Amino acid sequence: MSKLNNIKAVKEMIAGNHRTQTKNTVGFDEQTEYVKREVGESWNDDEGNVWEQKKGYKVKLGKLSELRDTMKSFPNCKEGCKSHENPKRNDLKMQAIHGMCFNCVISMEHQLHIDGTYDEYERKKKLENAKAWLKQAELEKDTIKLAMKAKFVNEDGSLENWDGGSWEEMAEKIDNEFQMFRENFIQKLETTGEEIH
Ligand SMILES: [Zn+2]
Repeated sequence: MSKLNNIKAVKEMIAGNHRTQTKNTVGFDEQTEYVKREVGESWNDDEGNVWEQKKGYKVKLGKLSELRDTMKSFPNCKEGCKSHENPKRNDLKMQAIHGMCFNCVISMEHQLHIDGTYDEYERKKKLENAKAWLKQAELEKDTIKLAMKAKFVNEDGSLENWDGGSWEEMAEKIDNEFQMFRENFIQKLETTGEEIH
């Protein structure tokens, strides 16, 4: 199966949108005895581990439940708001920045206009937007790492060396490159932050 499909599946799982998480009819719960998997297919088990089917064997990719739970919580939503039950794309975007859904952000900003504190809020928001974006980028980096690791797993569970080196070397390279990117990004943020403050 192509790497792209693999990454898509893992991303969907983090967001909680993968079909094994959204459609009760396909879930493992009803078919605990035997489920035939396509090669390249990913799924969750009862303990929140993510698996991928290889040709003739399956690979445990790891746990994503913690990430998923974070994405589903909206601590700053108004009391009684039900957005967390079925968050849309807009809600998830606002959640990363404000910890609340899109509608709750709209009504919060409306209140700030009334209070006369909107401008100050907007300056702060620009900075926080940038930080939230960086957090998302890191999540994607980890997702891609997880998906790539599956390519190095042998049938007996050991990790294979490739022409390019071992998985550990590959993982280190990905982390280093992201770290460099992150430092540059923060530096830029701080210098443009001067005109923000
Ligand atoms: Zn809300």
